[in-house]
Amino acid sequence: MKPIKVRLMLLCSFLVVGGGCATNRTSLTDTGQVTIQNRHPGKIKILWSSAYEQDDNFIVSGVLKRRDHIGAPIPVHVHVLVLTGENHIVQSLHTSALYVPRKRVGHGTNWKRFEVRSTDVPEQGSRILITVHSHIGSRTEKNLLSLASE
Ligand SMILES: [Zn+2]
Repeated sequence: MKPIKVRLMLLCSFLVVGGGCATNRTSLTDTGQVTIQNRHPGKIKILWSSAYEQDDNFIVSGVLKRRDHIGAPIPVHVHVLVLTGENHIVQSLHTSALYVPRKRVGHGTNWKRFEVRSTDVPEQGSRILITVHSHIGSRTEKNLLSLASE
């Protein structure tokens, strides 16, 4: 468990300290290497998302937002599928549980950042599919494959 904790801490400090210094980060959507499709049924919206390459890593990050104003934070996880032009799934990444707070007017941030990374940078023409699941069991997991074929 220890290495994971350390990595999370490093990631957090990177997000806090390094917000503005995108040294050798290349947006894969700006270069037209990949396209992103967001699927967000239900209460959670994917406000924005981006895919980039940094130090030979592939990173997808974005921001989730609630549509409603009531209730406790909703536990969700985000799936990122990388598909070839022929719709074959070449990567299936997901976050751990994220708690998205309800919308509150005038009370600071009500969005939740997500990020997944891997060492496989998608090839030219790949399609990235991002979807949000509520974090209850695995009943919805089988729908992932049908998502890919849409
Ligand atoms: Zn899921």
